[in-house]
Order: sequence, then structure tokens, then C-alpha cells
Amino acid sequence: MERQFPVNLPEGYVEFFKNLESFENEKEINLKNKCSFEKYDLLPLLASNAKPLLQLKGINIEEELYKEIFLDLLSFVAELRPETVPVMNTLRENVDELNFPAIIDEFIADDSAYFAKAAEELGVSEELFIFVLDHSLRPFLRIYASTYQEALANDEFQSWNLPTICPICGSKSHFSRLRTNDGRRFMFCDRCFSEWEARYLQCIYCGNNEPGSIKYMSIENDEAYQIYTCEKCKGYLKTYDERQSGKPTDLYIANIETIYLDMLAQEKGYTNHDFGINK
Ligand SMILES: [Zn+2]
Ligand SMILES: [Zn+2]
Repeated sequence: MERQFPVNLPEGYVEFFKNLESFENEKEINLKNKCSFEKYDLLPLLASNAKPLLQLKGINIEEELYKEIFLDLLSFVAELRPETVPVMNTLRENVDELNFPAIIDEFIADDSAYFAKAAEELGVSEELFIFVLDHSLRPFLRIYASTYQEALANDEFQSWNLPTICPICGSKSHFSRLRTNDGRRFMFCDRCFSEWEARYLQCIYCGNNEPGSIKYMSIENDEAYQIYTCEKCKGYLKTYDERQSGKPTDLYIANIETIYLDMLAQEKGYTNHDFGINK
């Protein structure tokens, strides 16, 4: 059954991201046979460095494979969003000038100045430029991250104390789920699809856990989709509570669909403390 939304979202908004997710899933399946990544003993590395794996070890992506996905994505975005055609065309015309290994490195380093300058030189919107670079990278990151999900889900994994940062790819997460059988909270990374545990009643931004200062709200008749707020730092976290329906959902789409919860939280003066490009 199609989910009904409590507010009207811009036309085609959710559909665009659903199509994008299908596009990326397809690319990931095709890539699985073509690329492999070195595997590391994750938990000791994270415990001793307190940095995401990607920042510690980098990722070795074959330039031609990335370029192929990048070009396909330009066509995909141009077709679904005709207003982006001029930018997509410019990027296609300049594709041989783009230094993809450097771009991937700068992306991992979250160097927004690099992308601002590159976009300006190309004469394209920085936001769109980063969008297509980011989404071309995601199928690779998901293959890279998939090996580590068991280690992250392990109860022994207590060493990660940066709940808003994906321990694998370093993206910021603003979305979590409460697991159906025990209500434990797992953060979700929409870039590489990793999940890692965070405390149920503790602010993921400032660590506050004073009784009564972490609250939650939801919209009537839509109780599975919640916002947890912190009175101390005014942070908010969107959450899907599996216990309401008894079943999991596609967290990538749930995050997109619940833009109305971001609007609601921000209207009430809360923030997701977002900045930089890895969000
Ligand atoms: Zn990630
Ligand atoms: Zn807080």
C-alpha cells in the first residue's frame, strides 16, 4: 500500500529518489563482479583511531568504472529533471578534464573549498556538481561497506563514540530506527547503508541524557515516524519506530519521505547541526 503523507510534498519529489535508489541498486549489482576492496579488521581499527574507516584507509576505485557511472547518472538526472540539462551537458562536455581520483579523495576529506572552486571553474551549480559526484560514488561505497555490517551489528561493538558519523564512510546521519524486537536504536547511513547502535535516550549530538530533556514527537496517525529532540543543544533526530508496525521499512526512502518532520522540527527551533558536504 502506498503511504499517505501528512503534508503535500513537492510533486515528483519522492518518485525521483525512488528512481535514483533503483538506479544505484542496479549499478551496485553490476559492479559487484567488477570491483573488490581490501578488507580490514574493522573493530580494532576504529577503537584505536576514532575515525571512519574510509578516512583511515581510503578506497581504491578504478577511474573508468566511476566515470562510466558518472556519465550514466548525468543522463538519468537530465531525463528526470529537465531543468538540470544545461549543467549535466556542461559536466559531460568536460568529463575528460575531471580528475576523478582527486575528486574521490577530496570528497572523503570533506573539502568543500575544493568543490566550490571546481564548480566555479566549470560554471556549474556547486550543489548539483556535488550531488552527481556523491551519487556516482554511492554504489561503490555500499559494496565497500557491506562486508562490515556484521561487525558493526556485533554487541561487542562499543568503541564508536561519534554516533552522528558513519563509522565506515564518515557521512553524517540524521536518521535512526528502533528495532522491532528490543527497541534498541540503530543509526542509518544513507550513503553507504551502514547501521550502528546509538543509545536510545541520549542526544546523538551533545551526549545529554538528563531525564526529561530528551523528548519525542510524531504526527497524528503517523506514529512510526518520530523526531527525538534535545533541550540542551536543540538537536533533533528523525526515527522510524519499527515497533509501531512490527516491520522494517526502506530507511533510505523513509528519510526522504519524512522531510515534513525536518520542517516541523526546524519550525520549532531545532537543528540537525548540519554543515559541510558529507551530510
Ligand atoms: Zn556510511
Ligand atoms: Zn543535545
